[in-house]
Amino acid sequence: MIDFTDKVVLITGGGSGLGRAAALAIAKQGAKLVLVDMNKEALEESKTEILEAAQNAAVELVEANVTNEEEVQKYVQFTVDTFGKIDGFFNNAGIEGKQNLTEDYGSDEFQKVISVNLNGVFYGMKYVLKVMKKQGYGSIVNTASVGGIRGVGNQSGYAASKHGVVGLTRNSGIEYGQYGISINAIAPGAIMTPMVEGSLKQMAGDNWEAAGQEFVSVNPMKRFGKPEEVGNLVAFLLSDSSRFINATVVNIDGGQSYKY
Ligand code: NAD
Repeated sequence: MIDFTDKVVLITGGGSGLGRAAALAIAKQGAKLVLVDMNKEALEESKTEILEAAQNAAVELVEANVTNEEEVQKYVQFTVDTFGKIDGFFNNAGIEGKQNLTEDYGSDEFQKVISVNLNGVFYGMKYVLKVMKKQGYGSIVNTASVGGIRGVGNQSGYAASKHGVVGLTRNSGIEYGQYGISINAIAPGAIMTPMVEGSLKQMAGDNWEAAGQEFVSVNPMKRFGKPEEVGNLVAFLLSDSSRFINATVVNIDGGQSYKY
């Protein structure tokens, strides 16, 4: 059902976690990939893993910082110059930021998180949409979070940025549907990636694994999500099988966001 033969997919945050998992899922279905990340070593690791799983995959790497509009413009242009088009865009790079109560949340920290998670996603859409509009087709998946649809606490910057990603998604989704372009967001709950490990270490230090178990004990499924589960969802949303899904937010959290 999901076939990426001759498709070109661009992924930010492709060096780790959800970006890498989506790249793997999509490469296995035949796509040509451009992976963007500010961490060059991580990008190389992703490429190695992808080529182990899909030997004939075409994978290009771009080291770029998504907070820099010029660098965003360049990674988009690189993709078009290299592969001639962009069918799918996983606009995913993000950071959590330091957790703190609103009154103690550093203003610099707030700006930093907004800059990566919201400005970075906006710049990515801005330049990719110019390409997709000319093509008359394309799919975009922006990474929001449960923190973009619910209050989580201690995460002013993250919550503001991810709610912003949901707003951008809905706004652009209704603008570009007429051009054959779908734009959706995903709202993952706690998925075990290096980011979540870092978050648990912020909360519990050396006891992070026990804290993690306690954290997921209130999840209806009593576990963390797996990166590949998110990768499969992203592959579906970027594929031709989901063309009429537009301007929406898909939760992937074991049901946690509906529990109270
Ligand atoms: P991760 O830390 O494993 O991967 C994030 C990647 O983004 C890293 O490779 C990092 O180098 C890259 N990156 C960070 N800032 C960048 C920048 N300015 N420019 C370019 N690359 C940059 O984290 P992850 O868990 O895979 O998170 C991916 C996305 O998913 C983020 O937007 C995150 O907020 C979101 N998310 C994650 C979870 C979860 O539980 N893991 C839940 C909800 C949302």
